[in-house]
Amino acid sequence: MQFPYKHFPKVIGHRGACGYAPENTLASMHKAKELGVEWVEFDVMLTQDGEAIIIHDNNVNRTSNSKGEVAKLSYAAIKQLDAGSWFSKDFSNEKIPSFIELIECLCELNLNANIEIKPYPGFERETAIKTVELIHEHWPKDKEPPLVSSFSSESLFTARQIDKELVLGVLLHRWQANWQHYPDELDAVTVHVNQKILRPKYVEAIKASNR
Ligand code: MG
Repeated sequence: MQFPYKHFPKVIGHRGACGYAPENTLASMHKAKELGVEWVEFDVMLTQDGEAIIIHDNNVNRTSNSKGEVAKLSYAAIKQLDAGSWFSKDFSNEKIPSFIELIECLCELNLNANIEIKPYPGFERETAIKTVELIHEHWPKDKEPPLVSSFSSESLFTARQIDKELVLGVLLHRWQANWQHYPDELDAVTVHVNQKILRPKYVEAIKASNR
């Protein structure tokens, strides 16, 4: 696939603007816009009852006023949580958004997205299927397409199986000599390497692969 973006920003807001507002909330997306970024990154995971929500960790312990594994909490229970006070009491009204709410927010703010499929362990396929389904139903056709990434190869291959046109990026925690097979097979347009293991020669290799 040709790289589909005419203008791709050097800076993408991680989980919105996670240094300035509670990560992965609508407030964080608004803050990112205010700070001038054009793209935001966020994480999609499924609740116990299969709703797609925006959260990074496998549990709500760090980023809410409660405790529990995301895959063991219903969407209704998740919606009761305060997802802002852990960051600052100024954000005590923040909720964990659904993926649909987040897409609506991005449309309102005219932001584009790097959507990370972040499956709860064991739900790699389900999370990818739901994420792609919701992109098909809710991402406006006239809006620049999102970049969909994941550390899970099972999630990415599932997404690719469903949609040949989907713009994909691979996330790598580890570098391997034969790394290029993976994005080639997926027809992925970007390779995102954990900064802790990134080396200049890896950057050169990725650029040489036209990514
Ligand atoms: Mg992420």
